[in-house]
Order: sequence, then C-alpha cells, then structure tokens
Amino acid sequence: MMFGGVEAGGTKFVCVTGSSAEDIVSEVRFPTRAPEDTLADAAGFFSEFTSSGGVLEAVGVASFGPLELRLTNPEYGFIRATPKTGWSHTDIAGHFRRGLRLPIGFDTDVNGAALGEGRAGAARGLSTFVYMTVGTGIGAGAVINGEVAHGLVHAEMGHVLVPRLPGDDYPGGCVFHGDCLEGMASGPALAARWGRPAEELGGRDLHDAVELEAFYLAAGLRNVIYTIAPERIVLGGGVSRLPDLLTRIRAKLQETLAGYPGLAEHETPDFVVGAALGGRAGAVGALVLAEVAAREG
Ligand code: ZN
Repeated sequence: MMFGGVEAGGTKFVCVTGSSAEDIVSEVRFPTRAPEDTLADAAGFFSEFTSSGGVLEAVGVASFGPLELRLTNPEYGFIRATPKTGWSHTDIAGHFRRGLRLPIGFDTDVNGAALGEGRAGAARGLSTFVYMTVGTGIGAGAVINGEVAHGLVHAEMGHVLVPRLPGDDYPGGCVFHGDCLEGMASGPALAARWGRPAEELGGRDLHDAVELEAFYLAAGLRNVIYTIAPERIVLGGGVSRLPDLLTRIRAKLQETLAGYPGLAEHETPDFVVGAALGGRAGAVGALVLAEVAAREG
C-alpha cells in the first residue's frame, strides 16, 4: 500500500509518496506560484509515480488556509478568501480528486503538522496534544483523543487574547485584532520592534526579544492548556528555534499557571518541547490524512 502526501504551503509545496508516515520513499519540493501551475506540478508528481507502475491508495493534502472543511458545504476542499494572490476560492482538494481519481484527505497545514508530530515526531504515542507553529504567523492544531479538532472551521489559537507585557508599547501587527497572540509574538511582530528579524539579533537585544516572546507564548499557551488540557505542547516554526526560548517559555508558564491545577506534568521539561520533524511535519501529516482517507474511502 502506497500513499501520496502534499504539504501545500504559501511559499513552497512538498509532495511525497510513502507506505506510511514513517516511510517516505520519494519527495519533491517546489515554490508556490499561481494555483494552476503549482497544482499541475503537484498532480504531475503523482501521475509520474502511477504511470511508472506505482499504485496509490489515496492522497492527503495539508494546505495553507483558511480552508472550508465542512463536508456538507458546497465549497468543501476549497481555500477560502486568502491574502495569497490568486489563491482565494481555489478548489484544491477537488483538483487532486478529479485529476488523480483517488480518495483525498484534506486539512490545514498546521493540523497536518500536528498529525505528523503525533505519528512520527515529538508527540508520538500521545492522544491529546497541541502543535503550535510560530513564524510569519502563529497557528496551532489540537489533536484530541487521537483526532484533529474541527467544528465550524479549524481552530485559530494564534488569535487568542493575551495580556500586554508591561512597558511594551508595540500596537500589534494582526490585521484583524491588532494585539492578539499572533499580532504580538509572530516573527514580523518581533522584527517590527527591533528593526530586523529576531534570528539576526544578538546580545542584549536577543535576550530581550526572547524574554518578550516567552512572556506572550506562555500567556497564549495558558489559554490553550486550560481549554484543551493537552498532554504535551509541541512548538515548531522559525521563531520557536530562538536560543533558550523553550527554557524561558517553561519558566514563564510556571509563573502564569501559578500552581493551578498543580499538575507535576506541567512542570516537566517534556511538557513544552520543540518539533521533531522540522520542515517534513506537514508532508508526514499529509500521509496520515491519506491513510485515513483510504480507510474511509
Ligand atoms: Zn489576530
């Protein structure tokens, strides 16, 4: 049994084939351009696999959003209104379903990465956990009892309300909310305060940026912890790799949880951890989506 996976990102596409999420056998990456060209290249990768004798059971697509995920909605499988030029109302799942005539699994790139980390990465073996990516934006996916949580739409935990760090006068960069978690703690929000990306800072500036970032992420994660009760939180994305950030988040989290509800697990170093799969998490998760789609037909 072989499956296909697509991580459809705003800047690049990663297409893979494999017998399972733990066994990727081929992979191709290319930049995201106009939808027609990009989707044709992705479908072409799988057509090439099947025309050379390979058999795919299903393809999973983990896409940038926002997405329509309600099966009963006529636009199920579409990218909804997006600032990404040309991609609003693109029928991304339908493109693969019609082109490949296979069952298609479909979810957000962040939920895909959450599934990938759960299957083969930093949340392996856990049934309830949260994956949060901190980079150009902040997004998070919750896996609850083994399933990605969806309702009317995917969760938007990057836009939770956070308190303002005393002395921080940055107005916030979220175009919708200003000073939500993403508005205060995304990569661009850090860059706006220091005049360049946090990854390029050093000395006192880097220290201050890490302290500020740890404060906001701990505040946002407190909301997530009290709402979902995850067994672990996995942090991915470029900003999450700032030196010493994870250690500082753990410390700030203990401050903001303030001993409530008093779980020893919240205080261990493996409660908040870094992502294990890096740039492959979305593609691995797309293979998990494909496995599910194959089972469900
Ligand atoms: Zn926001």
